[in-house]
Amino acid sequence: MSLSNIVEKYKELLSITEVPIVLRRDPTNKFEHELEWHPKQNLWCIWYKDEPIEFYIIHELGHLYFAKRLTHFEGFALQTPFHKEIDNKLHPLLNGLLDSFVNYNLSKFDEIYPIQKQKLSSYLENFNDFKEMIDNQKDFIMLLSWYIIFFLEFNFILRKTGRVFFSHEIKRSLNYLKSSLINVKSMVFIIDFEEFNKKLSKFEDVKEKIDPKLIVLFMINVIYVLDYWTKKELLKQIKLYFPELKS
Ligand SMILES: [Zn+2]
Repeated sequence: MSLSNIVEKYKELLSITEVPIVLRRDPTNKFEHELEWHPKQNLWCIWYKDEPIEFYIIHELGHLYFAKRLTHFEGFALQTPFHKEIDNKLHPLLNGLLDSFVNYNLSKFDEIYPIQKQKLSSYLENFNDFKEMIDNQKDFIMLLSWYIIFFLEFNFILRKTGRVFFSHEIKRSLNYLKSSLINVKSMVFIIDFEEFNKKLSKFEDVKEKIDPKLIVLFMINVIYVLDYWTKKELLKQIKLYFPELKS
């Protein structure tokens, strides 16, 4: 299937056919797959690299689907605005949390779930590759964002049969990520994993919510455990990251 056919197929499935989207190949091949809003042309652009994986395209469309589901809250699809006071350390963490909401919403489509399940299974089955990927990541914040994503995807996106079948592998992978975070160490964050996992597990209560404020509140509660930002500071950052959010 051609890329534009993939886009058309999933736009229809996700009921976002009215959204104008173009695909552009990233000539530098450097960036991750990305969604970009072009206000002048009134157009969304999905940037892709060589060998795009079907699911990455679906994921970018998922941001638009999720934004629409949240009564057109496009803050969850737009790129981070430029602002001199934005704390970039937050970016991978907010992104990891947001991506998990997007992927959860996508997983409810029976046509999409098998693609996600295959991706998650391949991480769980090929432990050596997983380890290598983790070992190559020396950036603490990036590792932490992966911990968030894998914790939420293995525990809440993988459906029950998969979770039971892979229970050993899930534990093994998350423990490996956890020990890597302890080894890489951070100068600023101290993670109480028990508390962090507890707050992440509140995903269960918010995963169906369509009020962006509740989702943002969940994000704040998770990130607050890191004992780095005060609640006031987090609220200020959230306003900078998602200026469309009405208080
Ligand atoms: Zn994303």
